Amino acid sequence: MAENIRIALAGNPNAGKTTLFNALTGSNQFVGNWPGVTVEKKEGKLKKHDGVIVTDLPGIYSLSPYTLEEVVARNYLVGERPDAILNIVDATNLERNLYLTTQLVELGIPVVIALNMMDLVKKAGDKINVAELSRQLGCKIIEISALKGTNVMEAAEEAIKAAAQTKTVPQHVFPGPVEHAIAHIEEAVVHNLPEEQQRWYAIKVFERDDKVLEMLKIEANTLEHVETDIKAAEKELDDDAESIITNERYIYIAQILKSSYKKANAGSLSKSDKIDRVVTNRWLGLPIFAVIMFAVYWIAMIGVGAPATDWANDGLFGDGYHLLGIGSAAYEEAAEEYGDTPAILEALEAGEKSYVTVDDETLETSDPIEITDEMAEEAKAMAEKYGEEGPDPANYGVWVPGVPAVIGGLLEKLGTSEWLSGLILDGIVAGVGAVLGFVPQMLVLFLMLAFLEACGYMARIAFVLDRIFRKFGLSGKSFIPMLVGVGCGVPGIMASRTIENERDRRMTIMTTTFIPCGAKVPFIAMIAGAIFGGAAWVATSAYFIGMAAIIISGVMLKKTKMFAGNPAPFVMELPAYHMPTLGNVLRSMWERGWSFIKKAGTIILLSTIVVWFTSFFGWTEEGFGMLSEEQLDSSILAKIGSCIAWIFAPLGWGNWQAAVASITGLVAKENIVGTMGILYGSGDVTAYQALAQAFTTVAGFSFLVFNLLCAPCFAAIGAIKREMNNTKWFWFAIGYQCGFAYLVAFIINQFGKLFTGNVNIIGFALSVVALVGIIYMLFIKKYTEADKLTVNVGK
Ligand code: GDP
Ligand code: MG
Repeated sequence: MAENIRIALAGNPNAGKTTLFNALTGSNQFVGNWPGVTVEKKEGKLKKHDGVIVTDLPGIYSLSPYTLEEVVARNYLVGERPDAILNIVDATNLERNLYLTTQLVELGIPVVIALNMMDLVKKAGDKINVAELSRQLGCKIIEISALKGTNVMEAAEEAIKAAAQTKTVPQHVFPGPVEHAIAHIEEAVVHNLPEEQQRWYAIKVFERDDKVLEMLKIEANTLEHVETDIKAAEKELDDDAESIITNERYIYIAQILKSSYKKANAGSLSKSDKIDRVVTNRWLGLPIFAVIMFAVYWIAMIGVGAPATDWANDGLFGDGYHLLGIGSAAYEEAAEEYGDTPAILEALEAGEKSYVTVDDETLETSDPIEITDEMAEEAKAMAEKYGEEGPDPANYGVWVPGVPAVIGGLLEKLGTSEWLSGLILDGIVAGVGAVLGFVPQMLVLFLMLAFLEACGYMARIAFVLDRIFRKFGLSGKSFIPMLVGVGCGVPGIMASRTIENERDRRMTIMTTTFIPCGAKVPFIAMIAGAIFGGAAWVATSAYFIGMAAIIISGVMLKKTKMFAGNPAPFVMELPAYHMPTLGNVLRSMWERGWSFIKKAGTIILLSTIVVWFTSFFGWTEEGFGMLSEEQLDSSILAKIGSCIAWIFAPLGWGNWQAAVASITGLVAKENIVGTMGILYGSGDVTAYQALAQAFTTVAGFSFLVFNLLCAPCFAAIGAIKREMNNTKWFWFAIGYQCGFAYLVAFIINQFGKLFTGNVNIIGFALSVVALVGIIYMLFIKKYTEADKLTVNVGK
C-alpha cells in the first residue's frame, strides 16, 4: 500500500470538490451549491488507504493572487507541493473549468482530472471525447459523478498511481515571442529551481506577478534584462503580458474543445435558465426572495416549529407529555369538564358570589363571573370526581414525565441537599433545557436553509441583492458571508475571504454578524412568543433588520475615509439548479444542529451553572449563603446586574435580569434564553409570563434589536480578531457593533414611547439627534474620494 501520499483536490468553486472529498474520506464537510463555502483547506484520510491524505482546497478560478482563497490554494500547491493534484472539473462548464487546468498542469506536479457531473452531461446528451481531451491536456481523465459516487475511488487511485510516476508535462505552447521570453526567464532567473517547476515560475515572472517576483528576489540587472524580453513580446502581440497569457489560455481551450466536445442542443434555454428568468428578474427577484424567506421562517417558527418547540419546552423539559398524543384528548375532555372548579370553590369558601379567571398565556384577568347554585353543585361534584387537585394527565393514556419531573423525583429519592437539587433543577435542567427546547425549531429552519442552498437558490439571492447592494456602493459578494452567517457567524466571517477588495472585506467582517445566526434564533423566538404572542413578523423582521443594519452601516462607513472606494464588479457564477440529495441536506442540517447541541452541553452548561450560582447565592442579613426565592434581589448576579443596568435604562429595559442576560449572551447567544429561564422562571409564573410582565412590547423589541446587533458571541469575536488580523481594526469593529446596536435600540425605545405615552423629553430629543445623524450620513453627506484604488478583477 501507498505510504504518505498527499493528494490535493483543486478546482473551481462549486465543481464538487467537497462532495468528492466527503465521498473519498467519509467526512462531513459542508456541501453547498454556491461559491465561497470552503475557504480553508481541509484534510482527511482516504478511505481504505492508510497513508493517503486528501486535501480539500478552496475553490479557485485561477492561480492568480487576487482573492485570499486563490492565495491559500496557490500557496499550498506551490509551497507544499502535494504528490498529486486531483483536478476536479465540472463537465457541464468545461471552458471555464479548464482555464484552471491549463495552469495546474504547469506546476510540474502530476495532475489527474476527475471529470465531474458526468450524470448531468449524460442526461443533457452532450458528448465529450475523453480520450482526445486527455491527449490534448497531457493528463489522465476519469469520468465521475461525485454526487452519485460513480468512479470516485478509481479517480483517487489513479491520482495515487500518478503520484508515483512522472510529472505532468504541459502540452500547451504559447506564441513564439512569449515562449522566447519564457525560455530566457527560465535561464536567467529560475535555473536554480527543480526543472519541473521552472516553467510555472517563468510564466508568473512573465506576467509580472508581484508575489512571485517578491519571493524570487531577482537582482536588479537581471530583472531589467528580463523586462526587455517581456516588453518585446508585449510590443509584438500588442497587449500587456498578463492579458496575453490569459487570452492565449482561452484560445487554447477553445481549440481543444472544438475537437472533443459536442453540445446536444446548443442555443436553446436550459431549465435552469428558464427558472432564472423569473427568480432573478429585475422586478420579481426581490419580492420572491421576501416571500420565500417569510415562508421559511413561518414554517420554522410557527407551522412546524412551534408545536415541536411547545412539546420540547412544556413536555420534554416541562411537566411531561402524552406519548404520541395518546390520552391527550381524554385528558383535555376531563380538564374541560373540571373547568373553573378550583376558582369557584375558592370563591365559595371565601363567601363570594362571583369569581375571575386568569389566562395562562397573557395573564389577562376576566370579568367577574357570577356563581349560580347550579355551578356550585357542579363544582362540588367535580371536586369529588377528580379530587381537589383536578384531573392528573398521568392518569390518561401513556404519560411520559418530563426531564425535570424525572430528575426531580430521582433527587428526592437520593435525598440530595437543597442547594444541589436547586443547582441541578433550577440551574442546569432549566437553563440547558430552555436552550435545547429550541432544537426542533432550529432543525426545521436549518433543513429548509440547507435545501435552498443545495438546490442553488441562495446563489441567486446574492445575485439579486447585488443589484441593490451596488446602489449603496457595496458588492453582492458581501452577501455571501451574510448567507453563511445565517447558520453561524464564524464561517460567515471567514467567508469574507472571497472578497477581493480589502476595505470591503473589513467592512463585511464588521457587519456580517448583524444577521440573526442560528444561536440568536431561540431568543428571538422567545421574545416573539412571550411578548408578541408568537407573531411571525417578529422573527422575519429580525432578519430584515439585520440586513438593513448591514446596508445602513455599509453606506455610512463607505462615506468615511477608511472605507471609501468602489466595490469590485460582481463575478460569481450561478450554478445550475438541481434537486439536492436527501443525505446532503440532512447532513448540513445535522451539522449545524449538532454544533448547537454540543454548545448547549459544554459552554452553555457551564454558564448556566455560573448564572445559577451567582443568582441564588448572595449576602443577606444572615451573611453569605443560599437565597430563598424572595431574596433573589440580593444575589451576586443582581448586584452585578444592577451596577450595569443603568446603561440599558435608556433602551427601555434597565432591569438587572435583562442586563445580565445580554452579558451572558456574549459567551453564547443561546445563553440569553437560558439566563432568562433561570432569572424569570422561578416562582409561580412561567418564564414567559414573567417576561410578558417585565417588558412592554417596545422594550421587548428594543431588547431584541440590541442583542441582535451588538457584539456577537466570543467564538465569532475570535473569528473577527483572526480575520482582521489587526488589533486596532478588531476593536473598531466590536466598538462599532455595540455602539450601533445601542443607538438603534435607543431610537426604537424613545420613538416607541410616543405610542405608549411615556415620552421622556430629553431621551426623545437625543434620539431625534441620533436619527438625524444617521440620516445625514445616509443621504446628505457626500462620498469622500479615497486615494485611488486599484482593484484587480479576475477575467
Ligand atoms: P465545491 O464548491 O467544489 O466544494 O462543490 P460542492 O461539493 O459543494 O458541490 C456543489 C454542488 O454540486 C452541490 O450542490 C453538489 O450536490 C453538486 N454536485 C457535486 N457533484 C455532483 C455530481 O456529480 N452530479 C451532480 N448532479 N451534482 C453534483
Ligand atoms: Mg467546497
